[in-house]
Amino acid sequence: MATGDCAAPAYAEAARANAESLVRMNLSVFGRPEAGWETYAPVAAREIGTRCAPDTPGFAQALAGWPPGGAPDGVMTEAALQAVEIAVQARRPIVAVLDRGVCPDPPTELADARPGEGYGGKAVQLRPGALAAYRAMVAAARAESPEIAADPRFLQIYSGFRSPASDAARCERDGDCNGVTRATCSPHRTGLAMDIYVGQAEGYGPDSSADPNRLAQSRMAAYRWLVVNAGRFGFAGYAFEPWHWEWTGEAP
Ligand SMILES: [Zn+2]
Repeated sequence: MATGDCAAPAYAEAARANAESLVRMNLSVFGRPEAGWETYAPVAAREIGTRCAPDTPGFAQALAGWPPGGAPDGVMTEAALQAVEIAVQARRPIVAVLDRGVCPDPPTELADARPGEGYGGKAVQLRPGALAAYRAMVAAARAESPEIAADPRFLQIYSGFRSPASDAARCERDGDCNGVTRATCSPHRTGLAMDIYVGQAEGYGPDSSADPNRLAQSRMAAYRWLVVNAGRFGFAGYAFEPWHWEWTGEAP
């Protein structure tokens, strides 16, 4: 992707620093130490408004011109990644609701996804508006991305609405009720959140929060398409989980 557009001579040195930190930076933006920020490169590119790859001068130039990042030299820092995370989280209405200590009631109306929409034939329910928006988004994705169109599994839903009771049983069973990956008040109780198949690393499940899996997903066409385009259909993502998307067309 380092085309002419992404060559900004003044930022060549910053690009070299970013190429190295991309795989080496020690960061803990989501409360868990991890190495390198490549997993978050697609969301960072979107926030700073560039299509350039993260190791290019063009990316560094865009970062330099993004005031929230506080990185006028174009060199990525943990603070700049934190600013990206804040910008992404701000698009998820559920975050503000949970921050107020409120856990939303389950919706009064749910619609059934069609069999081909559930991953592996799974039965999935969502709020009607969320399901309609999802269908419009998938149709566009298949029309616009040959890689997504080539495999019917891409963008299938493997988890939609989850009742508070089933979520409580699940977190009890998995023993991580308070972890990053499964909150006690899951957004899935709203009927607006869905886990979408964006691919997976060899040997991992499609919703494994293991770093190698999330890194592999961040390189995949389905995820990259979503990062750039899901907002057109009212969807907001969660940067830590490439598979988790929420429809923002109705209040949680
Ligand atoms: Zn989810």
